[in-house]
Amino acid sequence: MKPMKLTQQIRIFPTPAQEAVLWKLSEKCRLIYNFALAERRDAYRHKIKGVNYRKQQNDLPMIKAHYPEYRWVYSKVLQYTLRSLAADYESFFALRKNGHADALPPRFKGKQYFTTMVYNQSGFKLEHEKISFSHSYNGVPLEFALPEKFSFDDMQVKQVAISTQRKRYFVTITYQVEEPPYMDNGRYQAIDLGVTHIVTAVNSQGKFLMVKNQRPDKYWNPKIAKVQARRDRCKKFSNRWKLCNRIKRKYEWKRDAQLKDFQHTLSTKLVNNTKANTLIVGALAVKAMAQSTKVPNSMRSGLNRATQNTGTLGRFVQFLTYKSKRVGKRLIEFDERNTSRECYVCGKLHYMPIWQRVMNCECGNVIARDKNSCVVLMKRYLSQNAKWTGYQAFLDNLRHTAKGKTKVSSPSYGYGSEDSQEAPSVRVG
Ligand SMILES: [Zn+2]
Repeated sequence: MKPMKLTQQIRIFPTPAQEAVLWKLSEKCRLIYNFALAERRDAYRHKIKGVNYRKQQNDLPMIKAHYPEYRWVYSKVLQYTLRSLAADYESFFALRKNGHADALPPRFKGKQYFTTMVYNQSGFKLEHEKISFSHSYNGVPLEFALPEKFSFDDMQVKQVAISTQRKRYFVTITYQVEEPPYMDNGRYQAIDLGVTHIVTAVNSQGKFLMVKNQRPDKYWNPKIAKVQARRDRCKKFSNRWKLCNRIKRKYEWKRDAQLKDFQHTLSTKLVNNTKANTLIVGALAVKAMAQSTKVPNSMRSGLNRATQNTGTLGRFVQFLTYKSKRVGKRLIEFDERNTSRECYVCGKLHYMPIWQRVMNCECGNVIARDKNSCVVLMKRYLSQNAKWTGYQAFLDNLRHTAKGKTKVSSPSYGYGSEDSQEAPSVRVG
């Protein structure tokens, strides 16, 4: 069995005394980060070599000798702060290298921000329903209750981070579980991700499943726009402006949280409710690209919405991936170029602009765009991976489950032994 890492974010409720300790410790991390950053900038300016993570980590004992208050923080937490600066630099250089000229180098952390503290491997203790952290500032223990439903008793906990979000405190626990082995059980589920229907899926039994996207943004965005307009009429940074800004951020946070909840629930259901061990989803990068071509200006707003949504769809795919792995299933991202343009019955490529929701092919196939997409995706996956038995069974099943039937005169689909003489059409419900 292979180990896999999972993370769980849990809210904690520090007492005022604990809150003060957390801020004291976090402040030290912030200062060490800024200090190390200044040193790196200096080195860059004066072309001094060798100012890297290793050097800065080796300097820590010396810094602590001069400024004993850095000993308050558990030593590995300070080290990890330096490592995160190194990581920030690495991602900055990588971005620049890949042509993102507008990428910004790491910046100094302002004192209003709580610097996330990462306890890697040690310095924390988990007993059931309780987590505690090492530190040596004024003797107030950092010990927090965990809700009963989160039990890490049998887990290997690798890392715990303490962070804040909107003045709330969280611990993010990274733990390791054994990943059950994956076995191809001959059942598959192809999933098309979209904006209106977040999920349109077909399984190898030929059954379709469509789930409408929940759009909390439709409820919240007008409210956000309203409060933003009210804010913009106030003098900037006045009390009234700040109040409006706070409300605006709260609404945005609620909108995002609702969407995330929806995606969590849906991905869990999708993975657990299918008998298929293999889930196939179109690669999103390809999807965004395919959609961005040939869209007239009049439809730009629709397109923007579509591509914006690929961001949250990307997260949805991540959910599906790890939830599948956790139960011994697999999610496979598969090149889906032209799946929405290609008629699944006869293989003809159609001009399918994004607002055209139904494919109406000369061969008689009339099908909802998303349904067609996932059928094509399934066919491609099965044929390109030489799963011929599954492929044949899928086509047979499609015939049985389809509501309407259409004769197809000459199939020209280039996939092996396909007999699509009587391939059905699936009517839009
Ligand atoms: Zn056709």
